[in-house]
Amino acid sequence: MNSSYIVVWNITSKCNENCKFCFRKKCNESTLEENKKIFDNLSNIKMHRLTLSGGEPLLYKDLFELVNYIRTKNPSLILTINTNGKIIDDDIMKQIIEKFDIITFSIDSTNDTTNEKIGRGKKHLDKTIKILDMCNNKIKIKINTVVNKYNIDDFEEIYELIKKYSISRWKIFRFLPIRDASKYKDDFYIDDIASDKVEKIIDTMKLKSNMIINYNKIQEYKTSFFIFPDGSIENNRLQKIGNILDTSITEILKLKENSNL
Ligand code: SF4
Repeated sequence: MNSSYIVVWNITSKCNENCKFCFRKKCNESTLEENKKIFDNLSNIKMHRLTLSGGEPLLYKDLFELVNYIRTKNPSLILTINTNGKIIDDDIMKQIIEKFDIITFSIDSTNDTTNEKIGRGKKHLDKTIKILDMCNNKIKIKINTVVNKYNIDDFEEIYELIKKYSISRWKIFRFLPIRDASKYKDDFYIDDIASDKVEKIIDTMKLKSNMIINYNKIQEYKTSFFIFPDGSIENNRLQKIGNILDTSITEILKLKENSNL
């Protein structure tokens, strides 16, 4: 078995944005007590990093109580929150800075029209810049970008914006037409030729930057596995491998490795 796992826990399917490339799994969310059991079960393996994501994790009403529980049980675990930032105000940001090690949010374009086409709503960039200002040098920041037909020429401008901040990593993902996002394949999906062009632009940016920049062009993640709000688990190729609410995590991972999933 792996010595240390990187886990993404999608704590809720709820979201207050409507990104057309979103492929979140929609399912019932677990109660706080169930989620504490999920974490206890997870504690049987060594985790390097745990990311709380969604949907929008800040819409899970017991999020900070769950994080307090996680912190009490495992104070040294690296905890990340993956948020769209829409409801972050001073008070929520203070709690994020206190309780998490890393905040991750998305910048898909510096152009409001493109952000609206993608489904991020109006004035998304203004909000994002406000969040960048709020967390600069107070918490590690990671930026995600989903590359698609609309933002394919926006990378230089995104780079110019974020290089002014202390960004620890910029991850660029290729749009994946899976789950609900498959409806928008024709609008968003970039072919291999366009993807190679993006890769070249990114390689050039890497040469002039101190920032760590990654381009993920395939449907496979560095994440060891994903947990969904109903406790179901998928591997890094998004195949279901069990449910952590009714099976021990070590059993699920043993099965995963024995069946090469
Ligand atoms: S913010 Fe994230 S979870 Fe919400 S719709 Fe957009 S991609 Fe999906």
